[in-house]
Amino acid sequence: MTSTADHLHNRLLALAQNLWWTWHPEVIRLFTDLDAHLWRQVSHNPIAFLNQITPEQVEERSSDLVLHSRINHVFRRLNEYMEKRKTWGAVNGSNLHNRQVVYFSAEFGLHESIPIYSGGLGVLAGDHLKSASDLGLPLIGIGLLYHQGYFSQKLNIDGWQEEDYRDLDINTLPMQTVTEPNGQPLVVSVDTRIGSLQARVWQLQVGRVRLMLLDSNVEGNSAEDRELTSRLYGGDNRLRIRQELLLGIGGARILQTLNTFPGVLHLNEGHSAFAILEEIRRVMEYDQIPFNRAQRRVSLYTVFTTHTPVPAGHDRFSPELIEEHLGIFREKLGLSHDDFMALGRVNPTDASEPFCMTVLALKNSRRANGVSAIHADVSRRMWHPLWPERPEIEVPIGHITNGVHVLSWLAPPMHQLLETRLSQDWSTRMVHPDVWEKVDEIDDGELWETHQSLKMSLIRFVRRRLFLQAKRLEHQEIIQQIEQILDPDILTIGCARRFAVYKRGDLILSQIDRLERLIRDDHRPLQIIFAGKAHPRDDQGKKILQRIAKFSYNPAYMRRVVFIENYDYNVARHLVQGVDVWLNNPRRPLEACGTSGQKAILNACLSLSVLDGWWNEAYDGKNGFAIGDGGMHNDPDIQYQRDAESLYETLEEIVIPCYYERDISGIPHRWVQRIKRSMQSLGWRFNADRMVKDYAERFYLPAASATSVEIK
Ligand SMILES: *Cc1c(COP(=O)(O)O)cnc(C)c1O
Repeated sequence: MTSTADHLHNRLLALAQNLWWTWHPEVIRLFTDLDAHLWRQVSHNPIAFLNQITPEQVEERSSDLVLHSRINHVFRRLNEYMEKRKTWGAVNGSNLHNRQVVYFSAEFGLHESIPIYSGGLGVLAGDHLKSASDLGLPLIGIGLLYHQGYFSQKLNIDGWQEEDYRDLDINTLPMQTVTEPNGQPLVVSVDTRIGSLQARVWQLQVGRVRLMLLDSNVEGNSAEDRELTSRLYGGDNRLRIRQELLLGIGGARILQTLNTFPGVLHLNEGHSAFAILEEIRRVMEYDQIPFNRAQRRVSLYTVFTTHTPVPAGHDRFSPELIEEHLGIFREKLGLSHDDFMALGRVNPTDASEPFCMTVLALKNSRRANGVSAIHADVSRRMWHPLWPERPEIEVPIGHITNGVHVLSWLAPPMHQLLETRLSQDWSTRMVHPDVWEKVDEIDDGELWETHQSLKMSLIRFVRRRLFLQAKRLEHQEIIQQIEQILDPDILTIGCARRFAVYKRGDLILSQIDRLERLIRDDHRPLQIIFAGKAHPRDDQGKKILQRIAKFSYNPAYMRRVVFIENYDYNVARHLVQGVDVWLNNPRRPLEACGTSGQKAILNACLSLSVLDGWWNEAYDGKNGFAIGDGGMHNDPDIQYQRDAESLYETLEEIVIPCYYERDISGIPHRWVQRIKRSMQSLGWRFNADRMVKDYAERFYLPAASATSVEIK
């Protein structure tokens, strides 16, 4: 008896050890069937779950519910997935010659149980790994393990954000220590003028892809350095350069210790750009060639993605910080201080210019891209001074627009509907427009019903979360009417984002009377669900957040306007799967891409957005709604007023009438037409499989041909 129990428990543990489970709802359903309460209690962490349930309990529950065959089935599917040889990558990636694409990112958002991300950049990197895995592309991710993650958000009774930092229990993360060939735990170290920095390395399995995370909490480091990788985006520039030193140089050294030579270096944002320098150093040593030749060679297989449309958002370090941290390294490269600084300067001879990570990356990569067409325009303008002899349009920064990992964001009932109505192999062929044609054939009523049931699950989720928030704040009014909060028959807007000022989270509050009329309309009311974090040091962002939170505490709107704390992967998933409209109103052109709207459209929600980032190239007049006409004004206040006016007008004249136009059985056919148009015209384009294929074909394969020819 015990042995079957152990066997079952071990299979679940094996499933828990590969993040493949996060995009396979049939695995998640096993855990919720075993113990839904415990699953929620452990924040959807399967290892913590299995630590708290004995093999005998698993066996007993499985017998009662006849789960054995389901467990065996998903276990077999995982193994088939891992062993599949004829993948897209195997067929199309022959140029990679068994070398790896090494993908560096300062954050990875894979699932709520692994809180090593803060927002869009991390989720994008996580989605990139998952699609690379699905496509069978040989790729390794490199990042940092943050012991306290970003932060947990709590609002006080005044609506002010408070941050809570708690240490992760690393024993409940699906990680293994990376060891050297001799079995010793791998430790990488980086020498600086003020001592050496050490890090150990963890490995996570994301489907077929490995993710390596550096962790500075090791013996041998000073107390201060042991905390170096505690928090994301936490400290000052000194902390930051030390983190980036570990990520870039430490990250590149992991590969050397494991005798893995990169076929391609892909730097996701400038944080990891020091990896280029370590790779140059390795090539100099390995091939016994001087700096300049090694630099040219490494540039041939380095690609760089920039994400930041504002100049101040790019990391810059003073000459003193650079010398203190990279002086020893610079000597190994045989460079003078000035020559080294020149690598990160727009104007190499300007001694007052700091060292910019983006400049280092742009100057040393074969291909560089922004993450939407409009963002590439902005980036070419911003970095034109690096190529002053060229016209702006020829600045070598192209674009690959972001996409989302569909199976991670698609609600299981919607998935099922698409599988039955489109085709069984739909999810592996989603980059083809013809696969989505058949969305037309789905019955309006069936699509609407599926959406409505997801909306109801969202409302239950919101009430549960709001109840806990209100209990903590002892907010009696909310507690008393919790079951009346939100109504599935009311048009529901989701608005969740980082509260950075340019995102203008409070735009919809700019004309309170007008908003109040919309919310309290007798026949065609509106309700709004807000969520999002402000950066701990961004008081302006916190004020915008506070304004919204206070609005939601007002008894007059309490049932129709809510703020859900602690926006994370889990909250995002619920929101994008259940709202009717996804609202996005950044100040154009400051949204590099934006991906949350892409998650929403897959789930039959409609996008209502400023024509910025991805929406600028997605909107066709019929597949969602636009705020403004793409015009921009130099004065941000005027732009704010104009966009607010357009937002209200669009809601009043287009969105609300369309939503409430029903047939006799309550189905909004015109609305459903828009949903279908949205899924058909956008589903095949804005997914991460398409994105990773674009990277593979346009960036990785040309870059890899450099390594296969030049380095043998
Ligand atoms: C998708 C996602 C984001 C990014 O969304 P934007 O559209 O760029 O605002 C941020 N945070 C979380 C938790 C997400 O899931």
